[in-house]
Amino acid sequence: MSSSAERLELVISEARIRARTAALARRIDADYGGKALSLVVVLKGAAIFAADLMRRISLPLTVDFIAAASYGAATSSSGNVALGSTDRIDVAGRHVLIIEDIVDSGLTGAAIRDAMLRRGPASQALCALLRKPAAAALQLPVAYVGFDIAADFVVGWGMDYAERYRNLRGVYRLSLQ
Ligand code: 5GP
Repeated sequence: MSSSAERLELVISEARIRARTAALARRIDADYGGKALSLVVVLKGAAIFAADLMRRISLPLTVDFIAAASYGAATSSSGNVALGSTDRIDVAGRHVLIIEDIVDSGLTGAAIRDAMLRRGPASQALCALLRKPAAAALQLPVAYVGFDIAADFVVGWGMDYAERYRNLRGVYRLSLQ
């Protein structure tokens, strides 16, 4: 599964992720009280989390996807966020919930939030499966957090290292040796 130079250690099991995802969906249902939601899913890492989350939400909703990349084949952020086109995403007057895999520096979340705010939504909020310590100190409020984790690099449940490991059924710490 991994090459000899890479070590994987389980950080969050599939069962815990599923339970937490269901709990977040219940909170989202309660908080939005029957209003329609526009989910904006950040590709590629949040695809699996979002697929599970949206099927647990009972509100009427629409789904759009935005491509964002800041890591490439590295384990720390490049500091530049490349966003794909948002031209076709129409969120004017809608309640927007941005779904990310991990909030680390917060650059990606902030860039997408700003792009959505320019379209005049009724409200916007951020939901992330994982949050790293750097994000806790940010000006970027994350309304829905699955798990707070250490600053380690993780893969699995949609998240990659150089495009690999997205299919792992859990969140794993990846160490390169
Ligand atoms: P930020 O812009 O908040 O620094 O980083 C957010 C993006 O960087 C996430 O959406 C994710 O794609 C990527 N990222 C941050 N930390 C990790 C990590 O530990 N593992 C992986 N695979 N991606 C990460």
